[in-house]
Amino acid sequence: MADFLSTLNRNPLTGPLVRALGLPNPVTLARADGGYVATPFAGKRILVQAAAHSYAETALLQALRNGGGEPLAAPTEAKLDIVAFDASGCATPDDARALYEAFHAAARKIAVNGRVLIVAALCDAAADPLALATARGVEGFARSLGKELGRKGITVNLAYVARDAVDRLEGVVRFFCGVQTTYVSGQAVTVRSTATAPAALPLNAAMAGKVALVTGSARGIGLAVAERLLQEGAQVVCLDVPAMEQELQQTCARIGALPLALDIAGADAPARLADYFRERFGGLDILIHNAGITRDRTIANMSEQQWDQVLAVNFRAISEIDRVLLQDGTVRDGGRVVCLSSISGIAGNFGQTNYAYTKAALTAYVAAQAGRVGGRGICINAVAPGFIETAMTAKMPFMMREMGRRLNSVQQGGQPRDAAELITFLATPAAYGITGNTIRVCGQGLIGA
Ligand code: NAD
Repeated sequence: MADFLSTLNRNPLTGPLVRALGLPNPVTLARADGGYVATPFAGKRILVQAAAHSYAETALLQALRNGGGEPLAAPTEAKLDIVAFDASGCATPDDARALYEAFHAAARKIAVNGRVLIVAALCDAAADPLALATARGVEGFARSLGKELGRKGITVNLAYVARDAVDRLEGVVRFFCGVQTTYVSGQAVTVRSTATAPAALPLNAAMAGKVALVTGSARGIGLAVAERLLQEGAQVVCLDVPAMEQELQQTCARIGALPLALDIAGADAPARLADYFRERFGGLDILIHNAGITRDRTIANMSEQQWDQVLAVNFRAISEIDRVLLQDGTVRDGGRVVCLSSISGIAGNFGQTNYAYTKAALTAYVAAQAGRVGGRGICINAVAPGFIETAMTAKMPFMMREMGRRLNSVQQGGQPRDAAELITFLATPAAYGITGNTIRVCGQGLIGA
């Protein structure tokens, strides 16, 4: 669906009036149209700095260099494309002054669509309270910086990195300092050694030969994910309800995926999926639980059926499919599972008690599952989209839709491709340090932030 305000802004006749009224004029966000490249940082102006006693700076520098970048030796007056700051050494409020000094000097120099990645120490709950508080302070800093810079399309994200997971930063740097992070800002991810590391250091592009299932992929975000995974060389099965079979077949023929018409909420769905993937491919590597439905009503007006349907599709089906496919080994070692949550599950939403229940449940579900499947090198995460331009959001009343689009740091809705970029990254071998996380793709939405 077209963004009405952006259309008016870009029209030479109406643009000046829109701006005179003080309405937002969203920046054009940088997006990749191709797949991953080996040297995404070549030619970028990169500044890497660190607080004293930090432990991730070497890994940050190495990851940027492996991606073709050559970080500047010292700050310059030139515009910066990427700023990375290692705050893992901050253990007291005095140490955190380094953050102020670095970004006070750099903030105005960051180019439109620039990228900021800050690293903080991941402390366990029993750590010194002052060290814990100092690391958490970095999150408040990063989220605020994201709100200050978002209008320029600059993303600011934070990675809490455990000392024993520093070697897992490469993929994290590639994503959060790369073009694909377009609509992901203000996020705090944890990087840990929960999942067993693969034998060889994975590269982003190592998706060739992987088998992927994307549920609910006849259209919308699911379709964008399927296309993105195909672009990276995976074999993709697109699943949707039997009622969408014709659309699904046409879509699959166009993009080069395999169609599978199946209702995920059917009692036999887990067994049918296990049989299908074992027989055809010997297993499954990437499982994207994207299918989801809304049946919005206030709780007083909601029928039992509306409650039951949403719980069955958005939550029970996922846990049932995982129960079979993870336990019986259909999902192979080193696999990736991504569940589609929602900002509604984080903030709650009027008329969505059923939907928000399921989407909140998924955030706890992935956190709890991560430890159970990590021994097999499997990572499981949730992605929580904010306002993404799809059939689901096109159904919203005009004013709600317009508010949904603007209430974020980049003042516009995201595209299905933006959500697909985050989901695809989490499905790559290179994301082996990220598990149990819920990451929003919401342009740093103000709701529930
Ligand atoms: P969409 O409605 O455009 O597409 C969802 C697809 O899932 C449809 O093709 C539908 O037929 C399929 N589906 C529904 N029930 C199914 C079932 N029982 N079995 C198999 N397939 C089924 O939705 P979308 O906007 O692309 O959203 C995708 C996911 O992202 C959903 O889980 C949604 O809750 C979540 N999400 C979307 C947004 C957004 O802004 N669009 C925001 C937050 C979360």
